[in-house]
Amino acid sequence: MEYYDIAETWSRDQIAGEQAKRLRALIQRAMRSPFYARRFAEAGITPDSIKTVDDIRKIPFTCKDDLRQCYPYALACVDRSEFVRMHCSSGTTGSPVAICYTQKDLETWAGLMARGMHAVGFRKNDVFQNMSGYGLFTGGLGIHYGAERLGMMTIPAGAGNTRRQIKLLKDFQVTGIHILPSYAMHVAEQVRAMGEDPRKLPVKRALVGAEPYTEETRRRIEEMLDIKVYNNFGMSEMNGPGVGIECEAQSGMHIWEDSYILEIIDPDTEELLPDGEVGELVLTNLTREGMPVIRYRTHDMTKIIPGDCPCGRKHRRIDRILGRSDDMFILKGVNIYPMQIEQVLMSMPEVGQNYLIRLESDGSRDTMRVMVEMCNANFADDIRQLKTLQERIAHRLFDEILVTPIVELVHANSLPVSEGKAKRVVDLRGENGKA
Ligand code: AMP
Ligand code: ZN
Repeated sequence: MEYYDIAETWSRDQIAGEQAKRLRALIQRAMRSPFYARRFAEAGITPDSIKTVDDIRKIPFTCKDDLRQCYPYALACVDRSEFVRMHCSSGTTGSPVAICYTQKDLETWAGLMARGMHAVGFRKNDVFQNMSGYGLFTGGLGIHYGAERLGMMTIPAGAGNTRRQIKLLKDFQVTGIHILPSYAMHVAEQVRAMGEDPRKLPVKRALVGAEPYTEETRRRIEEMLDIKVYNNFGMSEMNGPGVGIECEAQSGMHIWEDSYILEIIDPDTEELLPDGEVGELVLTNLTREGMPVIRYRTHDMTKIIPGDCPCGRKHRRIDRILGRSDDMFILKGVNIYPMQIEQVLMSMPEVGQNYLIRLESDGSRDTMRVMVEMCNANFADDIRQLKTLQERIAHRLFDEILVTPIVELVHANSLPVSEGKAKRVVDLRGENGKA
């Protein structure tokens, strides 16, 4: 096994030892921020309270609302003149969450990102195109600096302008890309629409993340583009992308535990859950100096995959994100994640690349309308055939979610495609209908 850096070779004992050391240093540092100084004082936390990694449970959780209230600088542990960059989380409601980085923070982050890209199989001689938005979103510059750190020639293509993206891929013989799952399928469709075969593009591997997607979607993207797809997870509160990333084994995302402490809790009781059980991911930045965040409730639902990864790395793995606890909606008393619907749709070859879930109400009854794009090849004019397919999709969805949806078949490429994270659910039920 070829490693990028030494922390990848650490045993569990080494990881635990380093985590304890770094956690103690983190507490000292965090006390310099107005927010944590107050938080720790309220909870009676002093540097002496924290000796082992398990002692982290004495510290209260940090929530998104806390971070909103800290906007813009109340999380800072260093003088403002030390900051060299800021990013925001991509939430569309409420006040933003802003994270500022020191020079050292950017270096640490680029190093973690480069390590992850190396684990995926990228090497210095790859040509890499970053096809996600730049700007406040961390998927732009975060991925970019990691790719450069690894030594790849990096094309900051950004999001959108699909024809130009395709031209760059071909002209520069791009072998690696970073792209959002919804956009990856759109690009493949566009190549087909140009009368070309997307499997003939020079790309070999893709980092795909920033939003939830299913295993079925991964296989579809792999098939459409004849590439390998690796899941990549992160959030601005924890630097950005590269917190968790798959290795070549494609069997869950390693969380780099030399830089992050990972916990899974029951979102209702806040109890720690054992490996293998699905709950809310809670993360702590161990190495950020400018604005570390401690025990952050991410709202992302996943589980720790028990056992060792075939690659030999001992950093634990999380399963793909089921969704955010706030993505879940309740229809007729049933809890539903959009990913359950995606999983069914993307396993059916007649179904195209895009879908939209609309929750509607006629005043007395809530319904779910699933608008499903058809593959061009399968859009028959035969009404009976379409009706059969519609019923089959509705049945398969019922088996998964125990609610019968209204299925509406639409033409390929007719649903909106987002340049950023896809919006999968539109809730038109009004205040009363909302869960
Ligand atoms: P941002 O606010 O842009 O930093 O977005 C962070 C959020 O994006 C995370 O908390 C997740 O909800 C989501 N996210 C990022 N990467 C992934 C991924 N690979 N799979 C699922 N969700 C993801
Ligand atoms: Zn692995």
